[in-house]
Amino acid sequence: MMLSIKKVPTLVSNHQKEEGEESRLNGGGCGRNCLNKCCIQGANLPLYTFNRMNKKVQEKGLVDDEKEPPVAFLESLILGEWEDRMQKGLFRYDVTACETKVSSLFLTFLVLFIHWFRVDKVLQPFDGNKFNFTKVGQEEVLFQFGASEDDETNFFPFAPIDVDDSPSVVAINVSPIEYGHVLLIPRILDCLPQRIDRESFLLALHMAAEAGNPYFRLGYNSLGAFATINHLHFQAYFLAVPFPIEKAPTRRITTTDGGVKISELSNYPVRGLVFEGGNTLIDLSNAVSESCICLQDNNIPYNALISDYGKRIFLLPQCYAEKQALGEVNPELLDTQVNPAVWEISGHMVLKRKHDYEEATEENAWRLLAEVSLSEGRFQEVMAMIFEAIACNVDANESIALSIGEKAADGNQETNATMIPGKQECLVQY
Ligand SMILES: [Zn+2]
Repeated sequence: MMLSIKKVPTLVSNHQKEEGEESRLNGGGCGRNCLNKCCIQGANLPLYTFNRMNKKVQEKGLVDDEKEPPVAFLESLILGEWEDRMQKGLFRYDVTACETKVSSLFLTFLVLFIHWFRVDKVLQPFDGNKFNFTKVGQEEVLFQFGASEDDETNFFPFAPIDVDDSPSVVAINVSPIEYGHVLLIPRILDCLPQRIDRESFLLALHMAAEAGNPYFRLGYNSLGAFATINHLHFQAYFLAVPFPIEKAPTRRITTTDGGVKISELSNYPVRGLVFEGGNTLIDLSNAVSESCICLQDNNIPYNALISDYGKRIFLLPQCYAEKQALGEVNPELLDTQVNPAVWEISGHMVLKRKHDYEEATEENAWRLLAEVSLSEGRFQEVMAMIFEAIACNVDANESIALSIGEKAADGNQETNATMIPGKQECLVQY
C-alpha cells in the first residue's frame, strides 16, 4: 500500500511556485538566473572555506556568561547577506515582525499549493522535474561553503562556480520561521536526494562549529518526517533561547570507541538519542551519520537537530506521517495542520491558526509531540538496530567502533536538567 497525505508545504524558494512554468526570456539563460546549465556559465558567488583539520570536540557549556566570544565571521556573513536579501524583498513576509515568546505564539503561513506527498518511503530517487534547489535564483544563494585547500579559513567575495566540482551553498529560505533562516545544500549541482551521507553530515557539523554561536542550530528532516523537497538540504537559523529538547534530561546508554557518548532522552514527549563528545568532530559525525543511514535503510523517518556548536546532536525517529496516513492521529491534532518536523519536535512550535495560538498550552504541545514519538517498544527495537549497524561497521571501517556493554545496569541517570511532563516550556511562534 502506498501511503500519502495531503500536505500544504511552505515554499522555501521564490522559484518553487514557478514549478512547471516555462518563463523563457530573450537573451541568455532561462530568465530566472538559476543554477542550472542554462544560467550558470560565468556565474560568481562569494565563497567561505573552513579549515577541515580534524577538530577536537571541546567540552564547553551552552552559554559562557563571563566571556562574550567575538562574533564569528561566518555568523556575520550569514546575517549580513540575509539582511541584504531582506532589503531586496526576497522574503514572502517579514519574519522580524513575527513575535517570538516563550509559551504563547503563532505564525501565519500562507498556503500556496496543495499536493499529495508520498510519505511511506524515506529514500526516493531525485526527480529533476520536481522543484529542486538548482532552480532557485542565484539571488537567493548567499555563498558557497566548503573546506579550504590550505587548512585556513578564507573568504572570497567573488568566486567562480566550479560546475565540475559541485559546490555546497547556503541559500535563504524565503519562508523563514526565524531571523537568519537559511538552507545548507551540499554539492547542489550533484542533485542528491534527501538522504544523509557521511560527507554531507560532516559539512553540516562544520557549519555549526564555524558559526560559533550556540544558538545557531541546523536541522534535518528526512522524507516521511516532513521534508518538503527531495533535494539534500539542512535548515538553520538563530534563536537566542535554549530549546526545550536541549534542556531535557538524558540517560547515558553507551560510549563508542571514538569517544562518542550516546544517551537517550528521558522525560521528553518524543523518544530520541543524543550524541555528544567524541575524540574528534569526525568521530561524532560518523556515529550520527551511520545511525541516520541505518534509519534510512530501514525506511524509518527521522529528524535530527545539530546544536551547541555542532557538539550535540539529537536524533529522533518518528511515525507521525505514517499514523496520519493510516488515519490514526487524533482529528483535533490533525486540524491544527502543524507539521511536527525538527523545529517543532525540538520545542519551537510553529502554529498556523489563531485559536491554536490563543489556546496554546504546554499540555497541548506535549500531546501533539507524543503522537510523533515511536512507542517505547518500537524505540527499543530501533535503538538495537542502530547499535547493531554502528557496531557492524567496526569490521568494515575502523573509524566507528561501539563498546557494547556499558549500558548502565545500575540505572545511573545522567541528568542535564529536570523537566516535568506537560510542564516544559514550549516556544511557540506568533
Ligand atoms: Zn536558468
